[in-house]
Amino acid sequence: MNVLSVASEVFPLIKTGGLADVAGALPVALAGHGVRVRTLVPGYPAVVQSLTSSEVVAEFPDLFGEEARVLAATHAGLDILVLDAPGFFDRTGGPYTDATGKDFVDNWKRFAALSYVGAEIARGRIAGWKPDIVHAHDWQAAMTPVYMRFTGIANTPSVMTVHNLAFQGQFGPQIFPSLALPPEAFSVDGLEYYGDVGFLKGGLQTAWAITTVSPTYAHEIMMPEFGMGLEGLMNARASELWGIVNGIDTAIWNPELDPHIAGTFSAGSLRRRLVNRKALSDRFGLHDDQGPIFCVVSRLTWQKGIDLIIEVVDWIVSQGGKLAVLGSGDQGLEGALLAAASRHRGRVGIAIGYDEPLSHLMQAGADAILIPSRFEPCGLTQLYGLRYGCIPVVARTGGLADTVIDANQAALTARVATGFQFTPINAEGLRQALRRVFKAYHEPKVWARLQNQGMKSDVSWEHSAERYAHLYSSLLARV
Ligand code: ADP
Repeated sequence: MNVLSVASEVFPLIKTGGLADVAGALPVALAGHGVRVRTLVPGYPAVVQSLTSSEVVAEFPDLFGEEARVLAATHAGLDILVLDAPGFFDRTGGPYTDATGKDFVDNWKRFAALSYVGAEIARGRIAGWKPDIVHAHDWQAAMTPVYMRFTGIANTPSVMTVHNLAFQGQFGPQIFPSLALPPEAFSVDGLEYYGDVGFLKGGLQTAWAITTVSPTYAHEIMMPEFGMGLEGLMNARASELWGIVNGIDTAIWNPELDPHIAGTFSAGSLRRRLVNRKALSDRFGLHDDQGPIFCVVSRLTWQKGIDLIIEVVDWIVSQGGKLAVLGSGDQGLEGALLAAASRHRGRVGIAIGYDEPLSHLMQAGADAILIPSRFEPCGLTQLYGLRYGCIPVVARTGGLADTVIDANQAALTARVATGFQFTPINAEGLRQALRRVFKAYHEPKVWARLQNQGMKSDVSWEHSAERYAHLYSSLLARV
């Protein structure tokens, strides 16, 4: 089975969040199920520069006013199709924002172009290769099923995966005439979204099936509280909505072989984590004494509940805990964290920025990872935490609820607990959970058992890849 995956980021070529990890790991996991995935990604500078050799497989002399071509290459075991369109993607800054962090004003056109090319590949624009299924990820790729539906490629099944419903790609109606779509595409059955053009809405409306990245989030987004305006559509399409939890790349995230950490370890040699604890303490200027080290590796945003951590940080320190934060985002949150660090030298350390190797050391060296998200489609950092003996302390929502087993009395007795969940999702809820964490931390046997149970949980892609393969097969059976 041939699948075209369309994604705006893919690890290790380009990454700003969990989408890249998924887009990078799923093809490898699917290979074991007889599925060959080729991934179409934009030709950002980082992507083009990392290609050692490539072949031009399609050309678009006038792609929304820009010259473009598709390059085929392999990289890190991935089969990549790069949309080389310098006018759209050869820019400084990030994938979506300029160097000052502002969204590019033509993002609608950049990602309509990506999706348009995805649909053209489904039509057969690459000689000798045509996908059986097209799989689009998030709003940046969501126009792919829209183009397929409205430009005569409706017989190829399409899957739309939502990694985060908060990002929808909503633009004013004035862009519609530039999208190269027939007028009927601007309707409730297509792109029209509260009078605007909704890229994600269009993708969700037109794809054969919808998936999101955990069963609980699939359920939540049918409700107004989490649906972000799309709950009606989600309800209407409930029979086509699948919740498939993300796995992680267990070769890259492997504490027994990880080159980014100070010392490797396994469930059987947890004492060897201590060199990582020391390295982490040194890196963040934390006193090397008793007391749990909590870490945070996250975008610093309201969604991630970082303000709740700021509310409880003084209390954490008063209980003998320490905090190390790696992340960037909202300036107000960054400022509040930096202020906490200067208030509590040796007890709170902050690294503002994005640092992949350091994120590995944090999981290997901290005792627990805090993830108090207000909503969380899946979340990956709790899965890394489980694999690294870094106990996850999570809000009970979305994929966090699906992947961490709370250390309540029943779960402790049955020896299945892997972390701590809390609700309601507010500072008091977090503090109550942390009280339980401190108590467990001071009972070394209980703590070690939690670590062991977490390290044994299956966080690989194996089971979920099978579910995606099953979904693809069921769609093909309908052709
Ligand atoms: P989201 O995609 O919503 O940001 P996820 O938990 O699904 O959240 O994925 C976040 C990914 O990005 C994880 O792989 C995490 O380790 C990584 N990450 C987040 N912030 C940083 C950072 N500042 N430095 C390094 N990696 C980070």
